[in-house]
Amino acid sequence: MPELPEVEVSRLGLEPHLTGKTLRALVLRRADLRQPVPARTLERLPGHALAQIRRRGKYLLWHWPTAGGWLILHLGMSGSLRLVSPDAPPGKHDHLDLVFPETTLRFRDPRRFGLALWQAGDTPEMHPLLARLGVEPLSDAFSAAWLIQECAGKTTAIKSLLMDAHRLVGVGNIYAAESLFRAGIRPDRPAGAISAQRLTALAEAVRATLQAAIAAGGSSVRDYVHSDGGAGSFQLQCAVYGRAGQPCMTCGTTIRLIRQNGRASFYCPRCQR
Ligand SMILES: [Zn+2]
Repeated sequence: MPELPEVEVSRLGLEPHLTGKTLRALVLRRADLRQPVPARTLERLPGHALAQIRRRGKYLLWHWPTAGGWLILHLGMSGSLRLVSPDAPPGKHDHLDLVFPETTLRFRDPRRFGLALWQAGDTPEMHPLLARLGVEPLSDAFSAAWLIQECAGKTTAIKSLLMDAHRLVGVGNIYAAESLFRAGIRPDRPAGAISAQRLTALAEAVRATLQAAIAAGGSSVRDYVHSDGGAGSFQLQCAVYGRAGQPCMTCGTTIRLIRQNGRASFYCPRCQR
């Protein structure tokens, strides 16, 4: 499933090729994604120029000022965005094409949990799906002070708190596990029982982990142009995630697997307290 770093790398890869370009045509092959695609509205887009691509959580927000709004794309479980040559034949799961003068943006989504929606006006963050999202972990709003305040008095396990999208967006299972390892904190530690000093280290670890993943994906940015590549999962070097039963890279202790809210949590019982 594409996570925040993959979505951000999609944005970084696509933006230089598409911003300022006028849409020539829009081809919608299937409108029954997770929610119905507003075909009538999107059909008005050709002839309008794309001003920018923003990201909020795992949503990509495409601004068409002269058309009066924003196209909101979400990649769901299996979606990807690629730039293809305008004459490239579509595959079975290629549901939406945005045809620009020199390239075509193609949205592929085999499981169709993705979204293509429209929000009129200047603030796409008002859309009901986006309005209640938590803070962005790579923004100034996310800080040690913020994390300390969020954790104060909470009995919730710290990993569950990190993954609560109403508080903080984009920290999925892999990134939560890796951030907690970096900070030396057990995933099941009650949030309110962790010292301010350790939460400060955790805030830095979350940021560093996401930035490392984005940097790891940077090498795939070139794949957005005329190829079959695109945003898959990055080969992030995981220290604990997916490594149950293997030795910790730091101390050699066997990595443990526990279940929290039905999700797998990996940690080193010696490095993480
Ligand atoms: Zn260890």
